[in-house]
Amino acid sequence: MVESAWESAQIQLAHAAQELRLDDGTHELLRMPRRSITVSVPLTRTDGRVEVLTGYRVQHNLTRGPAKGGTRFHPATDLDEVRALAMWMTWKCALVDIPFGGAKGGVAVDPHALTRTELERLTRRYVSEILPVIGPEKDIPAPDVGTDEQIMAWMMDTYSVQSGYTVRGVVTGKPVSIGGSRGRGGATSRGVQYTTLCALRDLEMDPHDMRVAVQGFGKVGGLAAQYLHDAGCTVVAVSDSKGGAYSARGLDPVALLRHRRSGAPSVAGYPGTDAITNEELLELDVDVLVPAALHGVITEENAGRVRARVIVEAANGPVTPSADAVLADRGATVVPDVLANAGGVAVSYFEWVQDLAAYWWSEDEVNERLRVLMERAYAEVASLAAARGLSLRRAAQVIGVGRVAEAHRTRGLYP
Ligand code: GLU
Repeated sequence: MVESAWESAQIQLAHAAQELRLDDGTHELLRMPRRSITVSVPLTRTDGRVEVLTGYRVQHNLTRGPAKGGTRFHPATDLDEVRALAMWMTWKCALVDIPFGGAKGGVAVDPHALTRTELERLTRRYVSEILPVIGPEKDIPAPDVGTDEQIMAWMMDTYSVQSGYTVRGVVTGKPVSIGGSRGRGGATSRGVQYTTLCALRDLEMDPHDMRVAVQGFGKVGGLAAQYLHDAGCTVVAVSDSKGGAYSARGLDPVALLRHRRSGAPSVAGYPGTDAITNEELLELDVDVLVPAALHGVITEENAGRVRARVIVEAANGPVTPSADAVLADRGATVVPDVLANAGGVAVSYFEWVQDLAAYWWSEDEVNERLRVLMERAYAEVASLAAARGLSLRRAAQVIGVGRVAEAHRTRGLYP
């Protein structure tokens, strides 16, 4: 069985609801997205043809604050995926205790198949279509798979031009020159490093003895490999959508990042490494596996062949619920996405705070506050897991879902 992202999100919520003994009404309230919109996004291609793409914005929950979550440009994006990702954002924001609900948006498109001008047109038209539901007090988009700082700048500019004045706080993950936060670019990866080190400490495993494989050498995986290397781990394999590179002696993530930034289409074929597939990377004999690409890559089908002792979910939803059960039987520890990759949205929160205050923090300040926030969240999850005999995922969900349920209870139902 391979659960879809939406099925996975619902199964995880049901587990938390059971653990929290939520009544059926509250469970249903937390299950259904508060608002989902589907928009047509007409795009004039450079050759004059008009193509109509489909875009989405789902606000899963707004009870603890404005909705918050990234924007995904990927050919496989659909409403079910966006709904799941929005739900995961709700639990993630509550878990790290920042005052946001959860949202996600996306357009079903391959951004690499567009010219820069087409990408800008698409972004501006998509923002125009979702404009009524976003805003610094309503819903704040950010980057996700297939989107970057420049796309955030176009989103912020489109919203600002429509409003008649500059609205910095409407998106996060912007370039620093227009109100982005220092440290946002590497924030998700730093969070992955902090939570990995916390998990290794609890398991009494020395980072210097660790062999690590990272699937997805993009914005998150590339820097996660570098930061884990900086912490003393040996990164033996990395991959991107075109394939992977393996070296038993260890790779130099900084050199690989330089190689990619210089225009190389893939890490596959990097001199001095063996080519491996993405599937082979997941099954390598390593201590720590960091899936940092897409959801649903470790399933009931291949989980039995995953040999890592610790799996750190830098991506959203890479391990399905049935794979979770297989890994648990084998005694593997999964650091769940809502904890492991929360560094990104945490620094998005810092960016929003800085934008609203129009007062900027240094990179050291951002990184230090992020470290404190991530280590506190990890400690809360680990201590609940130990106290109740739960997996880290179950404990993280219980805390996240529990905080949102509590906010619903306290606010009451209107009318
Ligand atoms: N897309 C990132 C995530 O999945 C960041 C979202 C944000 O910063 O709002 O957590």
